Amino acid sequence: MLITGLSAAICDECATQAYHIVQQGRAVGSSFLPKGEEVPKPKELTEFLDQYVIGQETAKRYLSVAVYNHYKRLMQKTTADDVEIEKSNIIMVGATGTGKTLLARTVARKLHVPFCIVDATVLTEAGYVGEDIESILTRLLQAADYNVEAAQRGIVFIDEIDKIARKSDNPSITRDVSGEGVQQGLLKLLEGSIVNVPPQGGRKHPEQRMIPVDTRNILFICGGAFDGIEKKIAQRLNTRVVGYAASRDTSVVDRENLMQYITPTDLKAFGMIPEIIGRLPILTYLDPLDRKALRQILTEPKNSIIKQYIKLFDMDGIKLTFSEEVYEYVVDKAIEFKLGARGLRSIVEAIMMDAMYRLPSENRKKMAVGLSYAKEQFEKMDLSRLQRA
Ligand code: ADP
Repeated sequence: MLITGLSAAICDECATQAYHIVQQGRAVGSSFLPKGEEVPKPKELTEFLDQYVIGQETAKRYLSVAVYNHYKRLMQKTTADDVEIEKSNIIMVGATGTGKTLLARTVARKLHVPFCIVDATVLTEAGYVGEDIESILTRLLQAADYNVEAAQRGIVFIDEIDKIARKSDNPSITRDVSGEGVQQGLLKLLEGSIVNVPPQGGRKHPEQRMIPVDTRNILFICGGAFDGIEKKIAQRLNTRVVGYAASRDTSVVDRENLMQYITPTDLKAFGMIPEIIGRLPILTYLDPLDRKALRQILTEPKNSIIKQYIKLFDMDGIKLTFSEEVYEYVVDKAIEFKLGARGLRSIVEAIMMDAMYRLPSENRKKMAVGLSYAKEQFEKMDLSRLQRA
């Protein structure tokens, strides 16, 4: 096919090829290399995060500063003063469903560097069933369209880092397949070294050519629930209070939110090896979500659950509304079943299921969900399913 202009013509193949060249140029030229004015300031980043994530002020600040500094490090010129900014990887600790992944995902939207999320639970030491540590970088390479330069400046979010903790505080004499070996492997990545990455990942393609990736400039953000770490924090706080050098009065300790007192010592007590902790110098925490936060999560974020349902119905030309009591009811149920923020969606889904099934074939223009309707629909649902969620 020929596309003709005033004085020239181009065939479809050339047009497609030209398009790809332009795309590649963009990828290398701009989207992975931020220009000075494009780098979002820490305050701008937190403001952006505020639109999607409720609360978690401390974590937002730490994350924004770390990302900003990451950019600065990427842009530093080797100067005569010999000052080289080193990277500061981050670890975020907080109960599941408090927004760790959401924070990482949201911050990624604002970034112009390749970004990927990997789950530490699948990682095992080389030679065992599971994935090699290097597969983390395979994901990053994929996110960078195999542009190695770009990947080397990327950000990796490692979720569930607590799952590779050593099972006991004492270094074991026997090998701890799931824990310590993996931590040692991870250390190599965090420290900054040249790692040979299988471009297709996994071990199914032994013939694939490895790609060397330098991890020196890759920023690692780790997240984990560290179930039960509050006990270790409490223990530490108590012993300190009893001792002579008591620096914190027990009366000011907020027992509801012990996570805020977390220190690297607690991570060690949980089973992270000191070398890993040393490579994650920025330690921050997420607050547990209280009733007020849950209520806000339901409607306030830019793509809140309720806004999503309103949009779903709007696509069928139906105006969906909820009464305030329904929101309170949903929050009550989430607390009652200890489901946290994740449960909010399942509960709203249960309430809306019947309407979503019936309404598209009816000629309705409006749907108002009140408390009695919500209760009736929710109670119809098999509750045992929710508890497993
Ligand atoms: P985590 O990674 O801490 O286990 P997630 O970030 O996956 O938790 O949170 C699960 C879901 O709960 C999110 O997709 C989001 O809908 C909701 N959520 C959790 N915390 C918040 C929060 N602070 N603000 C808004 N939504 C939240």
